[in-house]
Amino acid sequence: MMNVTARLYVLQQIDTKLDKSENRLRELEQAIGNDSDVREVTAALEAAEMKTRAARRAYQAIEDDIDMLARKKTAGEKRLYSGSVSNPKELQDLQDESVSLAGRISTLEERQLDAMIAQDESESIETKARKQLEVVRSKWNREQATFVEESSELQATILCLNDERETALIGVSSDLQESYDVVRRHKGGIAVAEVTDNICTVCGMAPSAVRIRQARSGVDPPVKCGNCARIMYVK
Ligand SMILES: [Zn+2]
Repeated sequence: MMNVTARLYVLQQIDTKLDKSENRLRELEQAIGNDSDVREVTAALEAAEMKTRAARRAYQAIEDDIDMLARKKTAGEKRLYSGSVSNPKELQDLQDESVSLAGRISTLEERQLDAMIAQDESESIETKARKQLEVVRSKWNREQATFVEESSELQATILCLNDERETALIGVSSDLQESYDVVRRHKGGIAVAEVTDNICTVCGMAPSAVRIRQARSGVDPPVKCGNCARIMYVK
């Protein structure tokens, strides 16, 4: 027949496991379906895609301008060399325009080069973001599957532990249960401290020999550690 402190010690071990399982289950419930990482990377990819589209548009706009100016230049030069214009002033104007257009085109070509570099850069950022999303998404899928599995295992464990707890409570008076619960509430979930080699294993202090003797005999109400006020269990 186990004495009361031995029973409470068993109860404590079950409760410690229950606490651990329930805490982990709560963590899992928070994590299951929480796709904030995936959404964060998705948002980064969308931003990168937007930048790439803008960079392509900027490049294309410069290209269009160059085309337009080049056509204008070609048309002007055609007129200039066609022989149909004989007025010197008009010829000079056409020549000036050709030079000015060539200058504008060359300025635009420099800008086009910068735009191409910018476009390459945003494309490479976009590619990286897309790969990262794949990595994060597949990690998330794997994790979620293990979370769901672990959570159902824990639920089964908790059911078992609750059964064990019912059994452990048989023969524990309601007064004793009450005082166990009170200590547990106030002492971070640990109401019963095992005493090994005359040391309280929870707080590390050495209770007096008298207390240890009383605790060993399993008196009711149980003896508490003089330092941490937990119920002492001596094997
Ligand atoms: Zn103690």
